[in-house]
Amino acid sequence: MTVTLEKSVEDFIATPRQLFIGGRWVHAASGKTFATPNPATGETLANIAEADAEDVDRAVRAARAAFDGPWSRLTASERGRIIWRIGDLIDEHADELAQLESLDNGKPLAVARAADIPLAAELFRYMAGWATKLEGNTIALSVPYMPGAEFHAYTLREPIGVVAQIIPWNFPLLMAAWKLGPALATGNTVILKPAEQTPLSALRLAEIMAEAGLPDGVVNVLPGYGETAGAALAAHDGVDKVAFTGSTEVGKLIVQAAAGNLKKVSLELGGKSPNIVFDDVDPALAIPGAANAIFFNHGQCCVAGSRLFVQESRFDEVVEGVATIARGIKLGSGLDPDTQMGPLVSDEQLRRVTGFLDSGRTDGARTVAGGNRHGERGYFVEPTVITDTSPDMAVVREEIFGPVVVASPFSTLDEIADQANATTFGLGAGIWTRDVSKAHALAKRIRAGTVWINCYNVFDAALPFGGYKQSGWGREMGHEVLEAYTEVKAICTQLHI
Ligand code: ADP
Repeated sequence: MTVTLEKSVEDFIATPRQLFIGGRWVHAASGKTFATPNPATGETLANIAEADAEDVDRAVRAARAAFDGPWSRLTASERGRIIWRIGDLIDEHADELAQLESLDNGKPLAVARAADIPLAAELFRYMAGWATKLEGNTIALSVPYMPGAEFHAYTLREPIGVVAQIIPWNFPLLMAAWKLGPALATGNTVILKPAEQTPLSALRLAEIMAEAGLPDGVVNVLPGYGETAGAALAAHDGVDKVAFTGSTEVGKLIVQAAAGNLKKVSLELGGKSPNIVFDDVDPALAIPGAANAIFFNHGQCCVAGSRLFVQESRFDEVVEGVATIARGIKLGSGLDPDTQMGPLVSDEQLRRVTGFLDSGRTDGARTVAGGNRHGERGYFVEPTVITDTSPDMAVVREEIFGPVVVASPFSTLDEIADQANATTFGLGAGIWTRDVSKAHALAKRIRAGTVWINCYNVFDAALPFGGYKQSGWGREMGHEVLEAYTEVKAICTQLHI
């Protein structure tokens, strides 16, 4: 059984989608299109214009014209009101957007409706408020080589300019919101490239943003492939900043491409986050918590709790509890109301994740639950729990980006602090204990951008998010993100009185 699609969703996917440049829908200069598949079946869902370097050029020109023109002439309050309206329109179209997201990405409709869509709406409203609160400082000067001189010195916080934003496929609309909200609140213009696997909700968002009153050219949306459209954006001399969310591997390519004109770079990259369960914990809280930490969004979260550490005396109980939950998860199409976990996003991801499952077996790890592809059709993988690993195994070191957790026992706080940090990543971590001193002592020692205590996967537009080490540069959300989208100008006047 599946839900009936809204008429607007049927129409949207039936119409070949174009690029959104300068407020208009246009074909790709090459005339090329690509298909976005339905991950539950592998069949083509919709056809989309495929942007390449020439379209990137056009979009950069449109973004520059909007930056120099209408967008910078609006007051901060007018800018904020448009951004707030985008949030409200997302809420108004929540059912439709949730269906598009579920179809294109594979996630259960109920999850998209309860999490992705309202979080995106809230993000825009939170950022709308910042538009009127960007401030500089006045600064007292004491220039040692100008005795007696008086100055009036202050700072202005200004937009960086034309920003390229390249986003992944795991939370397509929400990642667009995380990127667009702060860029717009601070007065930048944008070229957004959604992931080739999931372009639909970003294209629908372009319509919504126009309806909210965003001037032409302020946001341009270019669906296309990473190696072509994405690489052209990251390298373009007319782009002042590139913001990227995706794999650490591609993040390094973005940094290299950005070096040409030394554009500013912010990165939200991969993770291999430790989720740590102490033996004083209430298992009724920690076991579902640990399962949610890895299985939410099919493990396709950069911050997934993919390394589960359990204190020795509780190890068997917690691992068996998580394995029991894994075995009971109902897999199916995201549009089936009974589905608890949908397919992975693509055939490529299916091959990648099952490749890791094979490597774990070959390396001698033990699969306690799952471990295989599910069914013949679509890109489904069984929720999987692996034990008996060693630190050098690929399943322990590398980001799998699927519903696969490796579990190991630990004994002391010192030992677990070291193990938690024994990774090149530093995005997130979870700690489960009743002992607040222990929790905060360990939180301080973990080298990661987010530490959740007795919870996991809690996101809020006000809570900064980002990575230590190879998990990224800069922070998204909170007021911290404003740093990533503004330049500070110091203005100094000598007072000749
Ligand atoms: P994943 O491996 O999870 O698909 P990627 O890091 O490959 O994640 O992709 C995230 C985003 O980066 C997507 O929008 C993709 O098109 C884009 N991308 C991939 N390769 C490049 C590249 N060489 N330059 C710029 N963007 C890229």
